[in-house]
Formats: sequence, structure tokens, C-alpha cells
Amino acid sequence: MSLTDILSRIRAAEVESGRATGSVDLIAVSKVQPLERVEAVLQEGHRVFGENYVQEAASKWPGFRDRFDGVQLHMIGPLQTNKAKLAMELFDAIHTVDRPSLAEKLARLAEASGKCPDLYVQVNTGEEPQKAGILPKDADAFIADCRRLGLPLSGLMCIPPESEAPGPHFALLAAVAERNGLNGLSMGMSADFESAIAAGATHVRVGSAIFGARDYSAR
Ligand SMILES: *Cc1c(COP(=O)(O)O)cnc(C)c1O
Repeated sequence: MSLTDILSRIRAAEVESGRATGSVDLIAVSKVQPLERVEAVLQEGHRVFGENYVQEAASKWPGFRDRFDGVQLHMIGPLQTNKAKLAMELFDAIHTVDRPSLAEKLARLAEASGKCPDLYVQVNTGEEPQKAGILPKDADAFIADCRRLGLPLSGLMCIPPESEAPGPHFALLAAVAERNGLNGLSMGMSADFESAIAAGATHVRVGSAIFGARDYSAR
């Protein structure tokens, strides 16, 4: 696969699902990938990237931002509260607002700095104990709390359980977003982004299908 292949599959899925052309943004997930692979995708003209680790993003992206205009960086990994300040400086969007302590910290930092990235609430649609995210039953109250804190919520994010069909999880996330008046839906990865687009995804997060398999041993 390549960037071009993935973009054409996204455009085809938009048509297939009766979605407007260009209504789905591709976040190219570059975590753990060698710099030369990321640079190749930048050279092809892509500008929207996702990272999971604050430290890795801090070492990689300021340099790329100096050389490439218009980079948009999305934080898609779990965010420790003590890294929130650095994350707010590095990222244009944070997809993993998943607990009250983090929401409160982001609100304090936003007030102090006068700016805040676009925020997405992560929902643990599969109610998996090891996975981050607000439980579906708590989502409405948490979204209301975030709004009371003045946080700029753009939408919701989920990572369906690996062992289940993703469709019902995407539909659940879309329903929670709809009843809370949120437009953004960050859902769908290499294996299932077309089904996420059918369910209304506005942002798909695709890594290995663009860059190849991640080699964690090379880090
Ligand atoms: C790594 C990661 C992705 C990309 O996964 P691929 O299967 O490589 O497409 C997407 N979303 C999140 C939250 C991730 O951690």
C-alpha cells in the first residue's frame, strides 16, 4: 500500500457511503516509523499526521515543521497528565481526552496559555478494562463536564476491541456524538477504515497500511 492507494480507497469509500468527497481526513499515523518513511510521505504532499508518544513527537516534529509548511499533528495515544503541557504545545489536536483529571488539567493550561488544540473524547466502546476511554454510560456526563470547563470539543474517538467486528462500535460512537451535538468522529485504522467511513468517520487513523509494519525493536 502507499499514501496514494489509501487516499483513493478513502475517496472511493466516501462515494460508496454517500458521503461528500473530501469529508474524511486521513491522519497518517507515523509512530515508531523511521524518519525517512515519514519524510517520503511529507514529500508526497501529505500534511496530517498522528503520533502516540509525546516524547517521540517532540524529537521528530519540530524539525519537520521547520522544513514543511502546514503540518497538522494529532495526538492519538494515551496522555499522561504530566505531559499535557508539552502535548498542548506540540499538537494541533488531542484525540485521547479520557478522564476528568486530564480534562481539568487541559482546561487550566488552556486558560493560562489562551489557546487549546482541538479535543476529542475517547470512548471505550468495548468496555475493555485494559483500554483507555470513558465508558459509554458515562460519556454524556463527561462531555457536559468538558464543556463546563470551556474545552473546545471537536468530537469523539474510539478503538474497537481487536476480537470483534468494528461496525457496532463505530455506530455506538456515532450515536453518542449525534446526541451530544458533536461532528467529529475519529475512528477507523488500517484494517477497518472503510467500515468507519460508512459509519460516519470524519478522521481515519491509518499507520501500517501507509508506512509498512512498525518495528518496535528498532526504537
Ligand atoms: C497505532 C494506532 C493507529 C494506526 O494503526 P494501524 O493499524 O497501523 O493503521 C490508529 N489509531 C491509534 C489510536 C493507534 O494507536
